[in-house]
Amino acid sequence: MALPDGERPDTPWLSYHCGVSLYRDEGVVLRTQKLGEADRIITILTKRTGKVRGVAKGVRKTMSRFGARLEPFSHIDLQLHTGRSLDVITQVETLRPYGEALVSDYPRYTAGTAMLETADRLTVGEKEPALRQFLLLVGGLRTLVEGGHEARLVLDAYFLRSLAVAGYAPALSECARCGAEAVRAFAIAAGGVVCGACRPAGAAVPSAETIALMIALLRGDWQAADASESRNRTECSGLVAAYLQWHLEHGIRSLRHVERDQADRARIDAERGTREVWESAQNPHISRA
Ligand SMILES: [Zn+2]
Repeated sequence: MALPDGERPDTPWLSYHCGVSLYRDEGVVLRTQKLGEADRIITILTKRTGKVRGVAKGVRKTMSRFGARLEPFSHIDLQLHTGRSLDVITQVETLRPYGEALVSDYPRYTAGTAMLETADRLTVGEKEPALRQFLLLVGGLRTLVEGGHEARLVLDAYFLRSLAVAGYAPALSECARCGAEAVRAFAIAAGGVVCGACRPAGAAVPSAETIALMIALLRGDWQAADASESRNRTECSGLVAAYLQWHLEHGIRSLRHVERDQADRARIDAERGTREVWESAQNPHISRA
C-alpha cells in the first residue's frame, strides 16, 4: 500500500507494519551537538512528547537542507523513529525559521538564546509532556521576532512565566513568608516580596513601579510593561535574573551575553564609550539580594 508523495507515514497501522515505532510532532530546536564524524544530536522541545533528543544522520557531511532545518530556534514539524537509546530524526519540515529572523539583531538573538537555554533547563525529563513550556517558548520567540516590545522585556516576561509554569512563581503582591499585604523588599530565597517584619538582611528594596512591572510581565499586560521607565526595567531585569539563577542550579550561561549587551548599550547611551562606565556596568544591579 504505497503512500502518495509527501504523505507522512505517521498512522499507527504503518508503524506496526514497518516494525519500527514512528511518531510525528512539532517542536523548537533548543540545541545541537556533534555525534561521531557526520551526525548530530538535536535537542527539541516538542508539543506533545516533551523534550526529545534525536539523531540527525549525515547532516555534517553534506550541506543538506535537512541539516539546515535543524538549527537552534527553528520551529519544525518532524518525524522520528524510536531507537534503543536515541530516536532518529527521519523527516523535517520548517514551520517558522525564527533563527533567521533573530540572527541580524544582537539583543534579540541573545534574548532568544537565553530562552532556549531556560526551556532546556526547566524541562528536566525527556519525553515528559511539557505543553505549557512549549507554548510559552513558541510565544516568546514569536513576540521577540515581531519586534513590538523591547527584547529584554520579552525575555523577562518569558522568564517569569516559565518559572511560574515550573512551579516557581515569585510572590509579588503579598509577603512570601507571612502573607501580609504591605511589602517592603524582594528576597530571592524567601520566594519574592516580603514585608518589613519578614525581610532578611541584605534583601533588595526595589521600587513599587518595578514590582508593578514584574506583575505586568507575568500577566502579559504589555500596555503597562511598554509604558514602564528604563530604570524600572533595569531593576526588574536584575531581580528576575537573580531569581532565575537561584532556582536553576548552575545558572543560565547565555544570560551573561544578554547582560553584557545591555551594559554595552547603557555605556553608549550614558557616556559615548568611556571605559569607566563600561566597567561599572559589568557589575550590574543583581548582586544586592
Ligand atoms: Zn511577612
